Parts: sequence; C-alpha cells; structure tokens
Amino acid sequence: MNYRHAYHAGNFADVLKHMVLVALIDSLEQKASPFCYIDTHAGRGRYDLKGSEARKTNEADAGFGVLRTATGLPPLLWKWLEIVRACNEGDEMRFYPGSPWIAAHLMRPTDSAQLCELHPEEAGALRQLFHHDKRVHVHQRDGYEALNALVPPKEKRGLVLIDPPFEAQEAEFRTIEKSLKAAMAKWPTGVFAVWYPIKLRSHVQPFHRWLGKCGAKRVLAVELLLRPDDSPLRLNGTGMVIVNAPWKLDDALRDSLRLLPKLLGTPGESEYRLTWLVEEGKDEAPAHGPHAPHSVRRR
Ligand code: SAM
Repeated sequence: MNYRHAYHAGNFADVLKHMVLVALIDSLEQKASPFCYIDTHAGRGRYDLKGSEARKTNEADAGFGVLRTATGLPPLLWKWLEIVRACNEGDEMRFYPGSPWIAAHLMRPTDSAQLCELHPEEAGALRQLFHHDKRVHVHQRDGYEALNALVPPKEKRGLVLIDPPFEAQEAEFRTIEKSLKAAMAKWPTGVFAVWYPIKLRSHVQPFHRWLGKCGAKRVLAVELLLRPDDSPLRLNGTGMVIVNAPWKLDDALRDSLRLLPKLLGTPGESEYRLTWLVEEGKDEAPAHGPHAPHSVRRR
C-alpha cells in the first residue's frame, strides 16, 4: 500500500469523480427519506494543496486549478466549485476536499456515511476530520470486505463509491467485479459508482462487458479522455461507471461533462463519452466502443 492520494488530489480525475459524486447525491436528495453513503476507499478526507506531496506533482494545477478561474461554468461544476470553496477559509483555496468531505457537506442531518480506509495514517486523519460529526462512521479496514458487511444499510437507500488506487493494475477490475457482484446480490437497489483509470482501452473493455451482463437495469459509463487511450504507461483518461444510475443522470452530467475536454484537455485529442452500458427497456447491452448505439462521444 504505497499509494497516497495527496499526490493526486484535485487532478482531472478527481474533478470528474467529484462532479459525478455531487450529481449522484443531488439525485438521492430528491427524496426526503434518509440515505446512506458508503465510501470503500475513502482516503484522508481533505488534502493540503500546499503540502509537500501535492507540491511534488502539482497535479491539481491542471485540474481544479484550471476550473477555479474559469467563467460561465454550468450549474453542476459550479456547485462542485462552491463545495471546494466551502472546504477553505477565505480566498486562499489551500485545501481540496476528498469524497468523504464532499458527501458529508451535502448530507442532511438524517443521512449517514460509512467510510472505509485501510492505511493507518489516512484513516487516522479521516477519523480526526469527522470526530465531531455523529452522522459519519470511520472504519479502518479493507473496503471490499467491509462493503459486504455494510450492505444493505438500514436506510435501504443510498450510494456506494468504490475508488481504489489500482495498485493491482488490470487485476483490480476483477476484484471490483467480485465485490460488486456480492454487494448487488445483497442490495439490488443500491447505487454503486466505481472510479477507474483509462490507460489502454483494452484494459477497460472486459469490465464494461461484465457490467453489461451484471443484471443491473441501468448502467452508465462517464469518461473523460485527455489523450488517445493507447498507452499503458500513462493516465490518458478517467472514467466512472454507475450501476443503478438514477433517472436522468446523463442529462444532469452532460453540460458540465462536455466542457471538461475543452478546459482540461488538448484540442483535437480530448473527448468525453457518456455511454449507457445497460439501459432500461432495451433488451440487450449495446456493443462497446466508439460506435455503441447509446454512446455520445465528442471532442
Ligand atoms: N475516494 C477518495 C477521494 O475521492 O477523495 C480517494 C481515495 S484514494 C484514490 C484510494 C484510497 O484507498 C487510499 O487512501 C488508500 O490508502 C486506500 N486503500 C487502498 N487499499 C484499500 C483497501 N483495500 N481498503 C480500503 N482502503 C484502501
């Protein structure tokens, strides 16, 4: 376990992931009944962009750093940016919020969060960050194992974020599939969001194929590609899949998503994709790749 998210906090992949997270929580809050947020790989909850790790890579400069000065942002990106502002005091914008902070900020008094983090230092920081918040429960344990024990939550509705560091590379997808299969069997109506890196397209395709047959009625893939997905050596793009995607989630994401390649990528090389891997009412999962019938792909 060498991975530390502080090196990457606020980069383009965090922007996509956290924008989708905000849209998912917005949709859960359409109903008054409480929901449970489960984060299997929570991290430390908040990151110091002036800390030595962040300054070593400066990855946030090409993600959050670009958007913080952008004008005319669509409402979803604007809301995400307001959340980052709320994580800071004054105008300095020194801190970038992790997924637990964003979720807890949006949660209502009756909602709850179960946060899992295996690394002792990160788990300690997370516990400290939320020690005052009775809605939030921190577990220092393996997130995949914990997921099986935590679902279904007593609220019976909610969201699971699976955001592993992918230290196992392609093999991580198989671990996710196994874990999702067990969790979905125990909680078929839960919303499950999984983050993944895009290096080589051929690494992602088997996962998408598995999702197409996993039994869920609605599975949406949201991707941001900065460069062609043809090299295993660098992070060319990033994606999220949402199992049991809320109604009209694609519409909620579209305006903000279409702006990201323009703001964060290189003209002619960057694109976004919004693809229904499984769509309710359609008998078969669509073919995959650029010509999938339910895929929107734009530069
Ligand atoms: N979700 C966080 C966010 O968006 O702010 C970032 C999480 S970071 C990508 C992945 C985290 O998973 C790291 O903090 C790492 O220590 C932790 N981790 C690695 N293996 C784990 C495991 N098996 N169970 C729980 N946490 C794990």
